[in-house]
Amino acid sequence: MSTRAGVDLGGTKIQTVIIDDQHAVSAQVRVPTPKQGGPQGVADAIVGTIRDACAQAGVEPSALDGIGVGSPGTIDDAAGTVTQAFNVSPDWEGSFPLAGAIGAELGCATVRLGNDVTVGTDAEFQLGAGREFESLLGVFWGTGVGSGIILRGKPWSGRGAAGEFGHMVVKLGGATCTCGRIGCIEAYAGRKSMELHAQALKQRGRKTALFKIMKQRGRENLSSGVWARALEHEDELAVELIERAMNALAAGIASAVNLLDVEAVVIGGGLGTRLGEPYVAKIRKRMVPHLFVDQHPPAVRVAALGDLGGAIGAALQVPSGGAVTPGLASAVSPG
Ligand SMILES: [Zn+2]
Repeated sequence: MSTRAGVDLGGTKIQTVIIDDQHAVSAQVRVPTPKQGGPQGVADAIVGTIRDACAQAGVEPSALDGIGVGSPGTIDDAAGTVTQAFNVSPDWEGSFPLAGAIGAELGCATVRLGNDVTVGTDAEFQLGAGREFESLLGVFWGTGVGSGIILRGKPWSGRGAAGEFGHMVVKLGGATCTCGRIGCIEAYAGRKSMELHAQALKQRGRKTALFKIMKQRGRENLSSGVWARALEHEDELAVELIERAMNALAAGIASAVNLLDVEAVVIGGGLGTRLGEPYVAKIRKRMVPHLFVDQHPPAVRVAALGDLGGAIGAALQVPSGGAVTPGLASAVSPG
């Protein structure tokens, strides 16, 4: 029986799961990402979630086959470092030896690091909404807008920086992006950009319930849940900004499809999974006018693994115990 831990490290939360050799989730723990203590504070919090998840699953951390982490920032799996993960912690500037910090504390020799959206896309490709396809674009619509690309069954990372879907330009001379550039998809569809835009419009006198809902829910930011609630109440500003976001996503996804002609697009991320099929249906429809070959649009689906996809994908980076193939493993160890 093999057990692997997977950690989805994000700007707002750390989601940790334990999966078995059938890829079933046997434990899950979620905590807010600590805002104090820098990278070491984040590493300590990750260690805490793995201890808790292991206790739930009835396994010693040192008995895990390994731990996989999906993180934003620049990842060097061979060196075990994460660099410039500003979305996680504002003072995460240099390289931090995250793999060593976690592994040493838990007595676990195998700690694999990967890019958060790459592992999330891989999980959807192997186990989720992209299972039946050989080529896939995974779009993660959340605080930022990230993506993973799979071509001929393999992740495509270019020279290391492919998949920056959120920084494809959809409007020349357009809105300023959080990256400092102009007209990126993320400038319209990233939750952080949308929040800044909503704040600016509110200060100019636009009425909106967004910030009231945020306070009622005890949030410090306009979370996906806050946006969803405001949309349920047909808040005019929320509807307007989400429409604007979907238009940018539709143009960007169609442009990516014009270039790559992937079989399927899977839309996940905090907003993508929270808003779900009704909104994905709108994006699907709005892509069509931008598709050069519109007779055969790709399948466009909501991520099937929901908000556990990132953590499951992180765990999949760790080889399942021994040299046993998945098919054989299920034959020799039922359940
Ligand atoms: Zn940008």
